[in-house]
Amino acid sequence: MAKKQNKNYRKNNDILEKQCNICLMWFSCNSEYFYINKSNKTDGLYPYCKKCASNKVIEKYKIDPEQYKKRAKKQHEKSPEYFAQKHKKYWNKNKEKASQRARDFRKNNPDRISKYSKSWKKNGAIVKNILKILVLIVDYC
Ligand SMILES: [Zn+2]
Repeated sequence: MAKKQNKNYRKNNDILEKQCNICLMWFSCNSEYFYINKSNKTDGLYPYCKKCASNKVIEKYKIDPEQYKKRAKKQHEKSPEYFAQKHKKYWNKNKEKASQRARDFRKNNPDRISKYSKSWKKNGAIVKNILKILVLIVDYC
């Protein structure tokens, strides 16, 4: 998992930019565009941009929802208070960004949404919560 990606950096007017290894777009190399990954010793960020990270989570969830439900549940059981607090903090801090992201996603992926909405309707709030938690897990790791 820990691949070297030194060639994925460039300087643009003195601003360090980093290339997402999924969509291959260039973004400023900071936590505004990339999720924080403490185990990455190079820049402390994930190799893919935030947009790709959430797509990845959703794709993975689609492939194996049970594994993700289990993982979220386990994490929740391990430290419900910490988790709830962090969750609350995260959403208060990122409410606008997150809902904007959700709006963008809906706008950019109408076909996907209609595909998902069937199962979302079935599982309702549970799935929505799990997606929230998954985004959070991406932030944790
Ligand atoms: Zn990307």
